[in-house]
Amino acid sequence: MASDAESLVLSHDPQHPANLICTLCQKFYTHGWVTGTGGGTSIRHDSHLYIAPSGVQKELMQPTDMFVMDYASKTYLRRPANLKPSACTPLFYAAFSLRNAGCCIHTHSISAVLVTLLCEASGQADVFEIEQIEQIKGVPRGYGETRKGNLGYYDRLRIPIIENTAHEEDLKDTLEAAIEAWPDTYAVLVRRHGIYVWGKDVAQAKTLCER
Ligand code: ZN
Repeated sequence: MASDAESLVLSHDPQHPANLICTLCQKFYTHGWVTGTGGGTSIRHDSHLYIAPSGVQKELMQPTDMFVMDYASKTYLRRPANLKPSACTPLFYAAFSLRNAGCCIHTHSISAVLVTLLCEASGQADVFEIEQIEQIKGVPRGYGETRKGNLGYYDRLRIPIIENTAHEEDLKDTLEAAIEAWPDTYAVLVRRHGIYVWGKDVAQAKTLCER
């Protein structure tokens, strides 16, 4: 019989977070979002956070590679001995605690990196703005309870950009500040690095990331 820690990741349900993170990261890899072991995904499931480990090939992960944290106490309920916890963990936690997110996706998308460089070159370094493009019509106008439909074609989507740090976990304070300063945003870009995107559940976070 499996131990309590093992039973947290053993499920035949493809929608179980430990299985879903693996499936999602396989698909994200084909977009170039989680290549070279970069990027990651975390899902909040009841009182638990499921988090992909650090420094592994994200497209080859197994459910048993997942870290599981108790949301309230921030203690690990399951910590694979041969793997390192994700340096993204405090950043994912910011989306869960400050935005009541159900899923947070971090990618090293080349498109995201390039847009942060374009904004810097254009002299508007701290925000990416775009309008009159079909894809923004899938982005909610306002966050959570304040949501009033989706953006329209002629609306302007704004995503804050923060500066990268030498170590991923050191992004925590500026990411939290950006989340506080931009109450409507579902994403924060990190210059020369990638993007964090969250949503109330996996479907919303994934869809917004694609948008
Ligand atoms: Zn990263």
